Amino acid sequence: MNTQKGSDIYNVIVIGAGTAGLVTAAGTAGLGGRVALIERNKMGGDCLNFGCVPSKALISSARLLHAMRHGQEWGIAPQSVAPDFERISGRMRERRARIAPNDSQERFESLGVDVFRGEARFLSPHEVEVEGTKLRARHFVIATGTHAARPAITGLDEVRAFTNETIFDELKEKPARLLVLGGGPIGCELSQAFARFGSQVTLVQRGARLLPKEDADAAEVLTESLKSDGVAVLTGAELERVQARGVRGGAATIRIGEETREQEFDALLIAAGRTPNLDSLALDAAGVRTNKRGLEVNDYLQTSQRHIYAAGDITGRFLFTHMADFQARIVVRNILMPFQFLRKRADYSVVPWCTYTDPEVARVGLSEDEARKQGVEYDLYRQPMNEVDRAVVENATAGFAKVLTRKGTDKILGATIVAEHAGDLLQPLVLAMHAGLGLGKVAAAIHPYPTFVEVERKAGDAYSKTRLTLRAKRLFSWLYERQRR
Ligand SMILES: Cc1cc2nc3c(=O)[nH]c(=O)nc-3n(C[C@H](O)[C@H](O)[C@H](O)COP(=O)(O)OP(=O)(O)OC[C@H]3O[C@@H](n4cnc5c(N)ncnc54)[C@H](O)[C@@H]3O)c2cc1C
Repeated sequence: MNTQKGSDIYNVIVIGAGTAGLVTAAGTAGLGGRVALIERNKMGGDCLNFGCVPSKALISSARLLHAMRHGQEWGIAPQSVAPDFERISGRMRERRARIAPNDSQERFESLGVDVFRGEARFLSPHEVEVEGTKLRARHFVIATGTHAARPAITGLDEVRAFTNETIFDELKEKPARLLVLGGGPIGCELSQAFARFGSQVTLVQRGARLLPKEDADAAEVLTESLKSDGVAVLTGAELERVQARGVRGGAATIRIGEETREQEFDALLIAAGRTPNLDSLALDAAGVRTNKRGLEVNDYLQTSQRHIYAAGDITGRFLFTHMADFQARIVVRNILMPFQFLRKRADYSVVPWCTYTDPEVARVGLSEDEARKQGVEYDLYRQPMNEVDRAVVENATAGFAKVLTRKGTDKILGATIVAEHAGDLLQPLVLAMHAGLGLGKVAAAIHPYPTFVEVERKAGDAYSKTRLTLRAKRLFSWLYERQRR
């Protein structure tokens, strides 16, 4: 059946062409559904345009710069390196452009998706409007994502403040002095990258430590690393006021405890939380309920209107690209299922993530803080990277891996790895948790030598040692003694 674009009724209308929307649209079209995808800005959403991709491309240049500056640690005469911010930014855009075709309108049209460019708003629970065109569907998926929260700071409207939506494309020159507000993943990643490009970076974090969702020992390694890159890390600090100075710059008043200090800057980056993109959707017309994190959804990712689903950052849980992807796959399946009992619940028991600083900070499952707060009894196996041979030869000894197991067993409850490539290193533990394999099994698998991932075998060996009871040890000693007779 060849129905004209926009006419008749769709199986699914997807609002937002970020990861969640794209995966939903491609999945639905792939299964033979008639699907419309509406995007008001750039195809690919935050991850491709203003998030993961450009930030990781900048971080890649920053990492190389850092290694070149520290060549003497590998026996190479010190290099004089001159970062060229224009070319670094150009490379970042070129890498992004290489990935962009995957998310493009042309590709999605070739998959059979009807793509509409413009802002969607609900007219009723079964109708949306985009650029004057009325579209109807049996099901809707709201995948409108988030944007940088704008904190209430006196004078903020008078200075030029960058967010993730502007810094990658509108910052034309490397700022001599960069003030970063927010010590979460985005603030930490970009602070380190810009410090390595040669900016004098001040990072203002309201909380007592960076990466507040991670354990204190993980945050501590990262803080030391940022400081050694020259970032001035101000924790327990409040950005109270900013004032314009000169053409683009400004001065900030920062309160730390009882003291205030003045800090001049040439650019200000706001990375202090995220706000859901809900305003333009006219959700009242659809009867969809919201909460302060985004859309209220049940375990099946249905909103308060059961035929309207949500996926990705807009659900307010785990704001990561891989979680947008995960939720979108569930939504595709659930929409297809005719009855609720056939639908799948989103299971968040094994969710990994990573902050791509140097060293990276990666986690899955429970942290120690969370285990304590939830009253979960656990055993802890902690392995420093400086005991991993590969890390020693690579000058990558900062950090550790720690694995929490249910007390008295090897059931993995969670793991934190702070190390080079920690995001990749974490995956065997993610797989083990997903498949219900214990830490003993992780240790029993053969690990190639010398690899960073041996850190996990070592943690597993520490567990295995705890299984060697006094009685078994006595038995083994007796067997050895018998052999020597
Ligand atoms: C700087 C930065 C770095 C990041 N790095 C990582 C990382 O390394 N790893 C990781 O996993 N995650 C990372 N993230 C998070 C990741 O980008 C998000 O989790 C992901 O993009 C969420 O996808 P989404 O589809 O839910 O939303 P989005 O990607 O935000 O897409 C939503 C889309 O909906 C559109 N839209 C909104 N309202 C409407 C409307 N009314 N009509 C039509 N269209 C609309 C928007 O224009 C947007 O394109 C990073 C984020 C930032 C900001």
